[in-house]
Amino acid sequence: MLSRLKAILRPAARTRPIELDDGLYERVSGRFPALHHLDHKQRVLLKTRCREILNTKSFQGAGDFAPQDDDCLAVALLAALPVLHLGLDGYRDFHTFILYPAPFIADIEEVDEDGLVHSGRDLRSGEAWARGPVVLAMNDVWDSGQGEGFNVVVHELAHQLDQLNGEANGFPPLHAGMDAGAWTRAFSAGFERLLTELEQGLEPSIDPYGAESPAEFFAVACEFYFDVPDWLAENHSQIHAQLAKFFMMDQKDASRRVAETQRSAE
Ligand SMILES: [Zn+2]
Repeated sequence: MLSRLKAILRPAARTRPIELDDGLYERVSGRFPALHHLDHKQRVLLKTRCREILNTKSFQGAGDFAPQDDDCLAVALLAALPVLHLGLDGYRDFHTFILYPAPFIADIEEVDEDGLVHSGRDLRSGEAWARGPVVLAMNDVWDSGQGEGFNVVVHELAHQLDQLNGEANGFPPLHAGMDAGAWTRAFSAGFERLLTELEQGLEPSIDPYGAESPAEFFAVACEFYFDVPDWLAENHSQIHAQLAKFFMMDQKDASRRVAETQRSAE
């Protein structure tokens, strides 16, 4: 979900400092199979990014909700994935995570093409406001990164990265050497394919929420990239290739690494 809609939230002004100890880190990171895709070097880097996020962003509970250390660490771990190699500068435009215990109701106002204002209410798992904050429902955070193509934290932070060069449109600032034409071709083809699948009543090849807009399609593709990378490589190979360049990490051998992790744990 994106923040172009004007939502009225009621965040409590509450910030908790987090102490990162090894027991807590192992316990919380163990709950996310998506992190098993990382190799040893990336896991070391993950902990560094996680610390940076905990040290530089504030974590506020909404209303009466008091996030525990586990909650904040879960958010920081999943938030570390997209910036593992990009570095924390990618999150320079926001400073606060607002955490709800469960999906939250947002009062929305939307202006249509004729300038008419429509208002209503919407139940949401997350929101990414232009220049922050990032709003998340904790129960959906805990359901993220389970190898099912769902990750609300990666989704909202993909919007933040997308917004670094203006309004979110599925075209974030690409790195030097990346081919803007190849990016556009890959994502346009993927988006069109999803629309066609939905029109024809076929099984969608990616979360159908991506059909909302190119910005949502990009955010959904990022969720798949970090959660089911092999599946994305097989079913949307050009998108996978572009995201590997963008995130500066190739997740294609993920299954092998998961198998190795499982073997070493036995
Ligand atoms: Zn979204």
